[in-house]
Amino acid sequence: MSAGTHAAAPAAAAGFGPSNPFYEPSALPFHAPPFDKIKDADYQPAIEAGMAAQLAEIRDIAENPAAPTFENTLIPLEKSGLLLERASAAFDAVTGADINPVLEQAKTDLAPKLAAHRDAIFLNAKLFARVSAVYQARSSKSLDPESVRLVEFAYDQFVHSGANLSDAQKAQLKTLNEEASTLSNAFTTKLLAANKNAAYATGTPAELAGLSEAQIAAAAQAAQARGAAGYVLSLQNTTQQPALAALSVRATREAIFANSWNRSERGDANDTRATIARLAQLRAQRAQLLGYPSHAAWKLEDQMAKTPQAALDFMNALVPLATAKAASEGKDIQAAIASQGGGFAAEPWDWGFYAEQVRKSKFDLDDATVKPYFELNNVLENGVFYAAARLYGISFKERKDVPVYQPDVRVFEVDDADGKPLALFYCDYFKRDNKNGGAWMSSFVGQSKLLGTRPAIYNVANLPKSAPGEPALISFEDVTTMFHEFGHALHGMFADTEYPSLSGVATPRDFVEFPSQFNEHWALYPEVFNHYAKHYKTGAPMPDDLVEKIKKTRNFDEGYRLTELLAAAELDMQWHTLPPSAPLEDPDKFEQLALARTRLDMHEVPPRYRSSYFSHIWGGGYSAAYYAYSWTQMLADDAYQWFEEHGGLTRANGDRFRQMILSRGNTQDLAAMYAAWRGRAPNIDAMMKYRGLVDSTVRAQ
Ligand SMILES: [Zn+2]
Repeated sequence: MSAGTHAAAPAAAAGFGPSNPFYEPSALPFHAPPFDKIKDADYQPAIEAGMAAQLAEIRDIAENPAAPTFENTLIPLEKSGLLLERASAAFDAVTGADINPVLEQAKTDLAPKLAAHRDAIFLNAKLFARVSAVYQARSSKSLDPESVRLVEFAYDQFVHSGANLSDAQKAQLKTLNEEASTLSNAFTTKLLAANKNAAYATGTPAELAGLSEAQIAAAAQAAQARGAAGYVLSLQNTTQQPALAALSVRATREAIFANSWNRSERGDANDTRATIARLAQLRAQRAQLLGYPSHAAWKLEDQMAKTPQAALDFMNALVPLATAKAASEGKDIQAAIASQGGGFAAEPWDWGFYAEQVRKSKFDLDDATVKPYFELNNVLENGVFYAAARLYGISFKERKDVPVYQPDVRVFEVDDADGKPLALFYCDYFKRDNKNGGAWMSSFVGQSKLLGTRPAIYNVANLPKSAPGEPALISFEDVTTMFHEFGHALHGMFADTEYPSLSGVATPRDFVEFPSQFNEHWALYPEVFNHYAKHYKTGAPMPDDLVEKIKKTRNFDEGYRLTELLAAAELDMQWHTLPPSAPLEDPDKFEQLALARTRLDMHEVPPRYRSSYFSHIWGGGYSAAYYAYSWTQMLADDAYQWFEEHGGLTRANGDRFRQMILSRGNTQDLAAMYAAWRGRAPNIDAMMKYRGLVDSTVRAQ
């Protein structure tokens, strides 16, 4: 059987036929999406037909009268859903980076259908029975290691979704899932309203002293948008609010902080405490039904860390270093308060304001002085591409003939060291109103030897666009973002695996940010930095004292940042290691005890998110996974240290890293893969060094 046989079957799906550009695989190089032909109305019918086609393929696999084998079960499963995949990949790209009302509507219509489609595959009992039979016999078969990994991966996905349960248990799981999803949605809705209500409003401009004229004008506009007079400062998701770094009236800072800290604990309709307490309890009960001691144990089984204990051990090792560094930063802040005759102890709402003054007095790094050395194109071609060329021998040439979804998007063909085409790389760097915030990487086409596909990867960011004819000058933070996203891109482009499910960036949460954060290190590597950091007018290299300032400011306030991150990650893990027998918790009491127990109850450094507004873990997919941010930082720093120990930026080092890590996707146990490359398991030593956590512990002793 092949995908092609079924491509015609669902042609009856409304509006889908040969005139739809997704009907056949793209004939363009690398099967690039034919954006010159795709219209907004083409996506939804193609995705719906793609779901129908995949269900027909799944039915054929599940109903096959022949005894289950790897070849008649796993292989066709990997080959199924190709139409859905090519339409969804293009759709995800345009809805993320170039959305409009037609696409918005299609996205809303498709979300529940796609969720149901996933369930229809993973709760198909006949299909699971076949996968399970192949899984049980996997060691006696003459399967190669990657195929064994695929069987295990597929089996775990089914088991994680509850395929192993009896019919009665499946019904119970469905009820728990529905309640969990209702609670999660309720949390998100409440928090949205709570955030809005907790905005700081004032009619007195004097209270906003310290903000720039533009910020005050924006606050007046925000008030107008709400139909109110005066000024409004909206609340951001995090505990700390960026405006606190500038606001000089202490009472204003305190009021804004209180709004933030108590936003969803006001005892009104938007109070989230009862919702999260029940959600935590319900997740523990669901984990028990699925055969795990806790929600975290269930979530971490397929991650690199594997167990909650491994994640907790990692965090516990970092806590004393992070808090010691934060305490030493706190002394500088207290000194700044004293030098201005403050006469009070630093509170959380003072930290940002005085940290900014300490930063200015120590480093005085002005963005306007730095940016002329970072012209976007130069950073891309002589920095990001250059580092990759030196490490991996790859080269880049722009392809103006490949169609794009928006005129700002550029496409490069990436050629391997032997000159053979390796991948397509799209970049969409400039900010637009119809683009999601932040920066990300994904693919139009993933690599797979089984499917005969090579990668077509894209990076998206929100860098400021310059006026026509003017150079795009960016900050060092933006430079770092470009290196970061390109690290993800390399992970996708170097993929060299048989099966699409295990290819490229299809890795767990606590691994996927490793190649990207690792690639950030090259931005400041002298040979790379000197190659791109040149004045856009004169071509002069950046003066040494400016380079030094950039290096030093990178770790400024790192103790605070890491401590607030660890506090949030510990809260996440404490909530999600609750046993199923635990009573309904009082969130405030639970939070206090959890922070005290993990020695993260630093009064002036509160968690980055409090339990009651921690949307990553209650509303998003990051439950029992918030530790992954710091975990992957550890991997990135530990890996970069290996390069430093072995001669730095060399082809030999790059090729070895590519061969053993970047090309392997999820084809091996990730802890074993890493240890084989590194020569040992990762540890926090390099992270302490690069993040400046070593000196402070020495000072604190
Ligand atoms: Zn990333």
